[in-house]
Amino acid sequence: MSRNASLQPILPGSTLGVLGGGQLGRMFVHQAQAMGYFTAVLDADPTSPAGLVSHHHVQTGYEDPGGLAELARLSDAVTTEFENVPAAALATLAALRPVSPAASAVAVAQDRAQEKAHFVACGVPCAPYAVIETADQLAAVSADPSAAPGRPKQASDPLGGSVGAHLLPGILKTARMGYDGKGQVRVKTAAELATAWESVGKVPCVLEKMLPLALECSVLVARGVDGTMVHLPAQHNLHRDGILAVTEVYDGNLPPGIAGQAVEAAKSVAEGLQYVGVLCVEFFVLQDGSLVVNEIAPRPHNSGHYSQNACDVSQFELQVRTMARLPLTQPRQHSPAVMLNLLGDLWFAQGDAEQTPPWAAVLALPGTHLHLYGKREAKRGRKMGHLNVTGPTPEVARATALNAAALLGIAPF
Ligand code: ATP
Ligand code: MG
Repeated sequence: MSRNASLQPILPGSTLGVLGGGQLGRMFVHQAQAMGYFTAVLDADPTSPAGLVSHHHVQTGYEDPGGLAELARLSDAVTTEFENVPAAALATLAALRPVSPAASAVAVAQDRAQEKAHFVACGVPCAPYAVIETADQLAAVSADPSAAPGRPKQASDPLGGSVGAHLLPGILKTARMGYDGKGQVRVKTAAELATAWESVGKVPCVLEKMLPLALECSVLVARGVDGTMVHLPAQHNLHRDGILAVTEVYDGNLPPGIAGQAVEAAKSVAEGLQYVGVLCVEFFVLQDGSLVVNEIAPRPHNSGHYSQNACDVSQFELQVRTMARLPLTQPRQHSPAVMLNLLGDLWFAQGDAEQTPPWAAVLALPGTHLHLYGKREAKRGRKMGHLNVTGPTPEVARATALNAAALLGIAPF
């Protein structure tokens, strides 16, 4: 049996490595250290949030062969906190150390076209779409959507429409490297679509039909190397300007039946990838009540941060457990929770004067838990931290979160 296929746990005292030094890596490092592991981070930025708190920090790019070799030398197992690491980097590491999730799973999450093909293969409904990689494909979509190469089979059309259903109005999304709504253009007409494709540099894209959303939700699943799967309760997410703003998790946060369907769909997606690690699956609930998968993230996710304070096992502990092949037990949410994202905008008063958000006043509210990522510079739209709010009931958690939002200058929800 090869080293990678061994089921032996990697015990505390060992070193866990992570590719990427952002806030997700930082919270992973904190959790791994709390459980008695040493940590190693690979990130070129000497002040990266995770690098600042890790035992070891390899300061190279993701593709630097020397840096990857050093991370492997330091680490007993490696994970990633960033889906846009080159799959080749994960493959290089996997030849030396156990790596989870696998490069093949990350490659699917990195590419919207592959991701959607995977949803279709798993029988999980996604938005009607077309792949646009060539001028011919663009012309075909514009002229006759039913003839467009890359159209999914009818079974994947959540609206039950015909394969020829028009994809406009739609959203053109670059196949790779998009996040927080970047790399997306909303288009109403064929002419707008052509201009949009030019504006993104004619890189491979998917055109998705614009769907009538009622709400958005997500599910975090963790799958062990032995196939055991556990999940966190389904999250209700509010986005503003393409960025997650608020996550609410408590009984009744979603319409009846949706949470169960979302958990089952998320598990199918993870199983289909033979996934090892923490996987976030994002969904849309449409106005007709149907559930449609949006995209996946092969790592802990912003919408799962509430689990740090509201669940007995957080998404970062699940990440540690899966990569270290420790047992997975079903997490239990012990408190209703609301998470507020703290964007850099909160560090600017009117007229752009810099300010410090009123932390003391916020923390005077019972059930507030502040998480800041140690980023040196606040910028508008930059994720600087989050506030988890827990309460004895959903009503109390919501009321406290609304009070905190008012103090911080976050619009009510
Ligand atoms: P993130 O990395 O923050 O999750 P992203 O850049 O990967 O975002 P998506 O999740 O694809 O982008 O889309 C961002 C938001 O745009 C969604 O959360 C949703 O609000 C809206 N959106 C995306 N696709 C559609 C669609 N087909 N119909 C309606 N709204 C959509
Ligand atoms: Mg998204």
